[in-house]
Amino acid sequence: MQQILIIGAGLIGAALAYRLSQAGAGVTVVEAQAQPAAQASGHSFGWINASYYLTAAHHHLRVAGMAAHRRLAQDLGADLWDWQGCLWVEGAATLDQMATDLAEFGYDYQDLTHDRVAALAPALAHPPPRALYFPQEGAVDPAALTRALLTNAMKAGAKVLFNTPVLGLIQRGNGVSGVRLAAQEIAADQVIVAAGTGAAALLAGMGLHLPMLRRPGVILATQPVPQRLAPILALNGQEVRQDRQGRFWMPVAPHHPSDATETLTADPQASVDAAMAALNALFQGPPILRAAHWAAAYRPVPGDGLPAIGPVAPGLWLAVLHSGVTLGPLVADLLTADVLGAPAAPDLSPFRPTRFWS
Ligand SMILES: Cc1cc2nc3c(=O)[nH]c(=O)nc-3n(C[C@H](O)[C@H](O)[C@H](O)COP(=O)(O)OP(=O)(O)OC[C@H]3O[C@@H](n4cnc5c(N)ncnc54)[C@H](O)[C@@H]3O)c2cc1C
Repeated sequence: MQQILIIGAGLIGAALAYRLSQAGAGVTVVEAQAQPAAQASGHSFGWINASYYLTAAHHHLRVAGMAAHRRLAQDLGADLWDWQGCLWVEGAATLDQMATDLAEFGYDYQDLTHDRVAALAPALAHPPPRALYFPQEGAVDPAALTRALLTNAMKAGAKVLFNTPVLGLIQRGNGVSGVRLAAQEIAADQVIVAAGTGAAALLAGMGLHLPMLRRPGVILATQPVPQRLAPILALNGQEVRQDRQGRFWMPVAPHHPSDATETLTADPQASVDAAMAALNALFQGPPILRAAHWAAAYRPVPGDGLPAIGPVAPGLWLAVLHSGVTLGPLVADLLTADVLGAPAAPDLSPFRPTRFWS
């Protein structure tokens, strides 16, 4: 049995642990923090989409990512997901361009006028004159999904070690044969770095520079209120959704992976207050929404914004990406096939990490 060691118990590491242990590999997950989803995956907006993308191949990967979520829901139970669709609101020229490009890709969208937007989101105070609606998009609670994946991986035999930072990779020749912890070493046939923003430091020990963008984000959740908003809203770059418990979720600042801001404001509480005022102003009636929780995290974004998934050296693999919620289950399927020697479609060649150093 192949022994596979996964560094990181975020959504990517958990999805890999689930698929690899299902496939019969011996899996150990090593996590620096005390619980799963302690970093990006526990502070994420959770939108599953292909309307945001950087290249055509990236769009198609995201479409495949949405399908992988639907397959995973058949295994884990559909309760974790909401497929409520997304309303995207921008200026007319931007919507025209998006519609043209997405039509060319064959992506399912509807170009809605004011009345149809108002019918889909009747509580909005000022429905926009036009929006694109993406009926196949949805959302998941990424922390809950991470926990479900790890629980099922453990049922299939995976071991998970918390409070266990990996200090370095053990090099053998030009490859890797395990990891170094504070008090011991663990040998493995394959090591997968699914360490989010921690990946670059681990690869640096191999003499490899993984460029990463510095992209902080703040996620905010409100107290639960009766249902006011069915679809996800992407309003001029500000995303909002209401979950099944009635809580509103929104990334506060910076709100989108394409936002190039490298530092948070000096006073995140002021940003949260401003975001709450803007959120309340979206809806008819008195301002009833209050912030119940907010937290900051860094988004794991490779230097060119695209995922970095695949082999790095003999015995060493990498899975570092933004939009890891959208792509996590698919990345786990594809990398499991890769690691076990049976590469699957879609082709990952545009996303191989070796593009950074070959
Ligand atoms: C505000 C915000 C909003 C977002 N919104 C969306 C969205 O709507 N849709 C979407 O698709 N994506 C979104 N993302 C991105 C998405 O959340 C991430 O791409 C995804 O969670 C990455 O998962 P991961 O497992 O790679 O990383 P992480 O969840 O960060 O997990 C990496 C884990 O590795 C551990 N680790 C690191 N170094 C070591 C080490 N040396 N030893 C042991 N353990 C280590 C860390 O402790 C961590 O638990 C958002 C992110 C943020 C921050």
